[in-house]
Amino acid sequence: MNKSVYKRETCRLCGGNNLKMVLPLTPTALCDAYVSRDRAGIIQETYPLELFMCLDCGYVYLPYVVDPETIYRDYLYVTTSSMGLSDHFKESAEELLYRIKPAKNSLVVDIGSNDGTLLNFFKLKGMRVLGIEPSKDIAKKATLSGIETLPEFFTTKLADKIGNEYGHATIITVNNLFANIDDLDEFTEGIHKLLAPDGVLVIESSYLGDIIKNMIFDFIYHEHLSYFSVKPLITFFRRFNMELFDIERIPTKGGSLRYYIQLSGGSRPISSSVAYMEEYEDQNDLYSMKTYDAFSKKIDELKNQLVSKLLEFKADGKSIVGYGGSATSTTLLYHFGLSEMIDYIVDDNPAKQNTFSPGYHIPVLPSDVIYEKKPDYVLILAWRYAGPIMKQHQAYLEQGGHFVIPLPIMKVI
Ligand SMILES: [Zn+2]
Repeated sequence: MNKSVYKRETCRLCGGNNLKMVLPLTPTALCDAYVSRDRAGIIQETYPLELFMCLDCGYVYLPYVVDPETIYRDYLYVTTSSMGLSDHFKESAEELLYRIKPAKNSLVVDIGSNDGTLLNFFKLKGMRVLGIEPSKDIAKKATLSGIETLPEFFTTKLADKIGNEYGHATIITVNNLFANIDDLDEFTEGIHKLLAPDGVLVIESSYLGDIIKNMIFDFIYHEHLSYFSVKPLITFFRRFNMELFDIERIPTKGGSLRYYIQLSGGSRPISSSVAYMEEYEDQNDLYSMKTYDAFSKKIDELKNQLVSKLLEFKADGKSIVGYGGSATSTTLLYHFGLSEMIDYIVDDNPAKQNTFSPGYHIPVLPSDVIYEKKPDYVLILAWRYAGPIMKQHQAYLEQGGHFVIPLPIMKVI
């Protein structure tokens, strides 16, 4: 194994070394590493993709950490503007203001603030806002649009600097980023430093319980180091004299949780949602090996069903293409071994079109191509969006085409 990947030998949350592999997936190339035409000749390395659990605190994670430089260096990095994201941010800002009730002009810091969409809603409600976004281009654009954004990674040093220059934050938001961070101790120490005494940290992250329940195993890929759940996070924040006082379930990413955290002994009462979720996790055996054995078996069964169906189509001389060139598609293609059966992939995002898929280098074309080339079957790799995709391409069905939905239950339409 080369130096761009290392294996973490201790638990990222509790530091323990009582660790067990719970789900071995097929090693993959970096899941979002779609390559442009001029780089289609390169060979992309694959990295181990194994899900582990810490038997001491229940934390589920990937121990193999690929150097972020490698993750972001070799391929075209595309920030995707997902449909409906702006509405989600608006609702999210309103919900947070309603629950936290900050005084006017309080400081709201968003870590991983991207183009500043979320902060803009806070600003409109009279808050002072500050974004932190390591991508220099995006940070600059956000600042120009009126949302001051520091082009930095969040560290304890940066937390001190912000505290001195802007004051302490009443609200710190971390959306879909906490799971991508390897050194959570450093990150959380920084948050502790930056948070005002009555401040609230709000973390949004996909929920382990929903990944298993909704069969979203393709959400497991190298950028996502952590698969969070309630019990281990309670233990983790206690180490930093912080406490989880409320939890909300939200539908993003196939099922996520929004965690509300304050300094230990803070003014906000602990909501019954915390005990409720702890109970939910116990009842669903989230920390029991048998859950992961069953998950693994179910993935194998779905793989066998899908592969034998696709082989049948192939034996009949039918053509099959994929729909959706996302990061999740890569995990699915590798783990189900589908690359040989798919002629090409189509995608609606212009930035992904005319690229090649990570590792296998399957061509990615615009989705309208299915009307010219008329493939017999379109396998929806981005299966969580199967509904809208089929709706958008009713005409393909009408011209005699078929969709195949691989998960959570295989369907041919
Ligand atoms: Zn642990």
